[in-house]
Amino acid sequence: MPRPHLLSLEEARARILEDVLPLRPESLPLSEALGRVLTEDVAALLTLPPWDNSAMDGFAVRSEAVAAATPETAVTLRVVGEVAAGHEPAGYVEPGTAMRILTGGMLPPGADAVVKVEDTDAPPGLAALPQTVAIHVAAPIGKNIRRTGSDVRQGDQLLPAGTRVGPAAIALLAAAGHAHVNVHRRPRVAIIATGDELTPIGEPLGSASIPDSNSESLAAQVTAVGAEPVRLGIAIDDAGAVRERLLEGILAADVLVVSGGVSVGAHDVVKDVFEEIGTLDLWRVAIQPGKPLAYGRAPRPDGGHCLLFGLPGNPVSTFVTFELFVRPVLRRMRGEAGDQGRPSVRATLAQAVSKSAARRAFVRVTLEPDLEREGRYLAHLAGGQGSYQLTALAAADGLAIIPEGAADAPAGIEVEVIRLDVELT
Ligand code: AMP
Ligand code: MG
Repeated sequence: MPRPHLLSLEEARARILEDVLPLRPESLPLSEALGRVLTEDVAALLTLPPWDNSAMDGFAVRSEAVAAATPETAVTLRVVGEVAAGHEPAGYVEPGTAMRILTGGMLPPGADAVVKVEDTDAPPGLAALPQTVAIHVAAPIGKNIRRTGSDVRQGDQLLPAGTRVGPAAIALLAAAGHAHVNVHRRPRVAIIATGDELTPIGEPLGSASIPDSNSESLAAQVTAVGAEPVRLGIAIDDAGAVRERLLEGILAADVLVVSGGVSVGAHDVVKDVFEEIGTLDLWRVAIQPGKPLAYGRAPRPDGGHCLLFGLPGNPVSTFVTFELFVRPVLRRMRGEAGDQGRPSVRATLAQAVSKSAARRAFVRVTLEPDLEREGRYLAHLAGGQGSYQLTALAAADGLAIIPEGAADAPAGIEVEVIRLDVELT
């Protein structure tokens, strides 16, 4: 068993991220691609708009024919037909004629401008086609026409690799002819809870049992970052039981997260099992909550490997260490670029906080806009800060970072607060 040594958060996270690459591409129908990240640049298959078409309901005309038109000196044209969206124009706009056109209708040959219906004597809406139309305004060439390719041309880049596909990107991809798109595969995350005291939620509790809340919070955190939870339930505090679940998890997942059983207690067997089935780095990370962290890699029969995380079992520690260590890994696997952290804001600490000098504290706070300082917040303690106390976690808007080095942080200092807003990807 390696001796645990004290690591900074940055060192621990950097060592873990060294082992992580974005997952391989898969082709998905657009309807399933929301939130995924493109593995390659995507080019337009179609030119948009594919042909000159009308931006208005009105009349397609020859610009020169209506150059002198005003409400007083209207120009009357013979109406030779109609073009609706989805139909090719039947006919040609000769001098002295016009064609009724609807929004999206293909510009008929001969016409070079559109006069909107409000600028004519024709009734709006679906009235019968008039014989003639009186035009009340001039229309320069191109008026109310959406030109071929004025949005994008076939072969142009639509979106670069690394784009996270949102609803707007889906609109563009669909319009430009894509029914499928290549995106990074979604990481699968096996979740295992350890502890003799645990009972699945919803089941009757024994006299010394508590609900397994970590499996629930971990599955929600995995889903919220856009990965897929694979729930493997509870293993009792026994090396054989833990090994069995871990071996199952390794086959099923890219990442395996175990909660509990990583401290130094007699029943903390997770570290031994990591060592047996793969590698183990056991770290004391200089953070609070969440000091002990077991990390490892286990080989898979397919030649790949599964990353192993043994998180401390106290529910707040489990939550915070997932945030700090596992979430960045899953983001990178999903193909997200950048430092993989969450947005943070600056805030003034409203109450004093006591903490251990050697560790960086992540304090559950609520945020209130600071009326005296534009763009700044006041950070109030969200409740009791014990690593078992979930009420303050549920109430918190974020985690205030109190740096290592000082034992206590007085009220009034400026702190960075990681925002915990739910981001469903
Ligand atoms: P451990 O890390 O196994 O020593 O557990 C530390 C504390 O967290 C103990 O009070 C456990 O009962 C509690 N705990 C461990 N796992 C869970 C879980 N899955 N759900 C709720 N509490 C847990
Ligand atoms: Mg335990």
